[in-house]
Amino acid sequence: MSTTAEPIARLIEAFSRLPGIGPKSAQRLAYYVLQSSDVEVEELAESLLCLKNSLVLCSRCFNVADKDPCSICSDPQRDKTVVCVVEKPSDIPPMERTSQFNGLYHVLHGVVSPNKGIGPDDLKIRELLPRLRDGEVKEVILATNPTVEGEATAMYIRQLVTPMGVKATKLARGLPYGSDLEYADDITLGQAINSRQGF
Ligand code: ZN
Repeated sequence: MSTTAEPIARLIEAFSRLPGIGPKSAQRLAYYVLQSSDVEVEELAESLLCLKNSLVLCSRCFNVADKDPCSICSDPQRDKTVVCVVEKPSDIPPMERTSQFNGLYHVLHGVVSPNKGIGPDDLKIRELLPRLRDGEVKEVILATNPTVEGEATAMYIRQLVTPMGVKATKLARGLPYGSDLEYADDITLGQAINSRQGF
């Protein structure tokens, strides 16, 4: 039998399921929450609930947003001729932080992965094509992660978009193979966007 009171054990268990949180960090976080004020705990709980209840997927780019279309898609200052295709919503903030990209995005919500039974139709790939049909988009940057699955997904999309007269580019090398855009540093990612190559 565990000597930890059940509500604390439950919170430790929940925290330890988060990425990058080991059992020790989970325990530290749980006890931190326990000694926080009621107001702080309510705010935390409220923000967690709000996250799921008040967010929508943008019907154009499929980013998570608080309105549809999202603030990027509806911003008249953004360059509508370039669309950057990323694997997941959390890849967008690092791209934005570089200040090197002012176009639009398209979030795939995954990569093609035959091993896991994920095919192109399980992703938002088909939804990209209507966005390219009116001729306004001139370039699609395939910014999937530098992994086997990410590159295979980029190749697949390239085959679809080039016959439509849209130039396909990819991020320059410099991002370590097997890495994740989400954790790339701003300078490396900024350079990778600026020196992107045709592909
Ligand atoms: Zn959007």
